[in-house]
Amino acid sequence: MQFKDLKLIAPILNALDAVGYTNPTPIQEQAIPVIFDKKDILGCAQTGTGKTAAFAIPILQMLSYSKVKSVNKRIRVLVMTPTRELAIQIEENFNTYAKDLPIKNLVIFGGVGQQPQKDALRRGIDVLIATPGRLLDLQGQGFVSLDELEYFVLDEADRMLDMGFIHDVKRVIKLIPSKRQTLLFSATMPAEIQKLADTILNNPVKIEV
Ligand code: AMP
Repeated sequence: MQFKDLKLIAPILNALDAVGYTNPTPIQEQAIPVIFDKKDILGCAQTGTGKTAAFAIPILQMLSYSKVKSVNKRIRVLVMTPTRELAIQIEENFNTYAKDLPIKNLVIFGGVGQQPQKDALRRGIDVLIATPGRLLDLQGQGFVSLDELEYFVLDEADRMLDMGFIHDVKRVIKLIPSKRQTLLFSATMPAEIQKLADTILNNPVKIEV
């Protein structure tokens, strides 16, 4: 199987070509059609499996089918991840695959000044990649509106739990519309994550790699 067999649009195939990726990894092969089908995913996958592209590529393609003028300044995708390093890597993935698409990505995390993040949010973005604390902080200050979110990705859910962020994650979930597509990824499935998955996913397709 090659990326060109996955019904990807030309701008994304070109971006994959530019980074030299021809064949999807197993999680990409499984997840991409499911996301196109508008189904939720419970993904059991470690970092290194290509899981970031497995959600970034189809989400970008779905967004590009219904591009809303960024005048609306509405955030359409939220990816939550526990660490700054992961957040930066995820944004780099989105930027790579969106290079020929009119889609704006932004990463926010704590430990750095808020002003550049606030300025970027004010200008309007489509995809927000965030760690939980800074997200709630800027949301509380009125810089992040999640009312019109279409896609919610919870990445490394088990590490969120280990790092003590699960309460923040639950607070964020209360802020997003119930009508959305949700993708949850976790390397392990402890009972607390399974419980969270049961409450936030709607009849998910399970993918294990
Ligand atoms: P991830 O699991 O998302 O952290 O990705 C692990 C690494 O694999 C990253 O450096 C990706 O850029 C790379 N990668 C992702 N998908 C592919 C692919 N289909 N072919 C080759 N490398 C890939």
